[in-house]
Amino acid sequence: MKVNGYEIVLTSDRTLFSDYGGGIFLGFISCFPKNLIPEWIFFNVFCPPTKVAVDGLPLSAPLGLRVIESLLLNSGFKRDQVAVVHPDYIDKAVGPDTKILGLSEMDPLGVGPATSTFTQIFRGQAYMPIKLKALLNNPIVTRYKPKVVLGGSGVWQLENNEEKDKLGIDCVVLGEGESVVPNLFHNILQGEPVPKVIYGQPIDAAMIPSILGPSMNGLVEISRGCGRGCLHCSLASSKKRDIPLEHILKDVVTTLRYGRSTPILHAEDVLLYGSNGYTVNKESVMKLFQEVKRLPEVKFIDISHFSISSVLQAPDLIGEISQLLNLGGEQKFLGAQVGVETGSQRLIKKCMKGKPAFEKSKGWYEDVIVAFETLMKNNWVPAATLLIGLPDEIDRDLEESIQLVEDLKTFKSLLVPLFFVSPSREKSFNIKDLNDLHRELIIKSWEHNFRWMSLLYKEYSGMYMHRGKWPIYLLLTLSAKYMKRRLKRLLSP
Ligand code: SF4
Repeated sequence: MKVNGYEIVLTSDRTLFSDYGGGIFLGFISCFPKNLIPEWIFFNVFCPPTKVAVDGLPLSAPLGLRVIESLLLNSGFKRDQVAVVHPDYIDKAVGPDTKILGLSEMDPLGVGPATSTFTQIFRGQAYMPIKLKALLNNPIVTRYKPKVVLGGSGVWQLENNEEKDKLGIDCVVLGEGESVVPNLFHNILQGEPVPKVIYGQPIDAAMIPSILGPSMNGLVEISRGCGRGCLHCSLASSKKRDIPLEHILKDVVTTLRYGRSTPILHAEDVLLYGSNGYTVNKESVMKLFQEVKRLPEVKFIDISHFSISSVLQAPDLIGEISQLLNLGGEQKFLGAQVGVETGSQRLIKKCMKGKPAFEKSKGWYEDVIVAFETLMKNNWVPAATLLIGLPDEIDRDLEESIQLVEDLKTFKSLLVPLFFVSPSREKSFNIKDLNDLHRELIIKSWEHNFRWMSLLYKEYSGMYMHRGKWPIYLLLTLSAKYMKRRLKRLLSP
């Protein structure tokens, strides 16, 4: 660390500087309110800090910070000007020379869909906003007053919000940072006025820089954007762009540098890699998986997201990937997030018309069931989100979602009901709007999860977790019954 601090310090709140003992999907626990899990247990058992090297710099860091680090160094900033820093070490990195504190945040105000849902049901504030506030109020930050610039996927929460002034954030970067951050940082170092909000335009995939250090949990970006047009999503009109394969392979090698052996390929729909539009390009996807798997550092491969429509289009591709990865063997399953959102064809057409973009669709409800059959047969485990309180939702829509949850009972999966959050936040669903059908949907989904959770956790922790397996298993088992009762009680009218 430098005595007078680095000119540019990049960091995130403490919940984002953990690999959750090797189990990235346990990260959802940071959306629960603080009063449910005491701080000591949370930050030692569930969310242990990522390791740091002898120089005090972290061995891995959130992917967004790694991209900005690399972007700055490629743009002429010097290595000794820029440091990615663990938030627990901020007082060793910030000093009189520090001019910029750059933050990447997923849910700065704790109002994202998962956090809103859990904090409204269980009442209280989640650790993410609490730890962000603590970071910004760290005496070393308030003493040297670097300009605070915040970006990341949760930045929409602060676009028109006085909250950023209260928090002491000078500038928020909306959209893709690559097109604006180097100039912005250069100007700040020159002492020029800092805009409150700056908009980064979508960039060509070739301009996305390779990362220079490992990302948290081995996350590697393979495509950016989506463009399916869902009403509630900031990526609705952001066209998908694929990162070239050589670039991806390089990032995989970089991110596995310190002993990890499983990269997580990240895109809004990994099965659309190399596609033109929304038609799956099987050769491109298989080539991607084959080339990554060929790397000597790689043991398993995981992915972040896929879509129902891609599974329906290419069930044989799901089978081929499973064979290549030998799923069901040492890698028990491949788990990833998928947006199911509703059982209602009416709501899908109204709010997410780009999702079933597949000409042979038999209707959303049927499509989801058929996709889950394909996934189960091939040892894929979907973690599916369901949205509560979509605009103009009527009882019939909720009944269809409840029936869907019933019909998915036998499929090894997680079904996560979340309150609808509108980008403007005005029309977001609130717990005060809960009716009996909403309650039934939430309870049935969690009954489904409690049924599968124990088996999934055993398999998942056996594959990935290097820390906290048994304490977490014990806590999850003990808390499952309690949570079931508490959920029912909290949701009773
Ligand atoms: S499919 Fe997912 S990522 Fe794409 S616009 Fe819809 S919600 Fe957003």
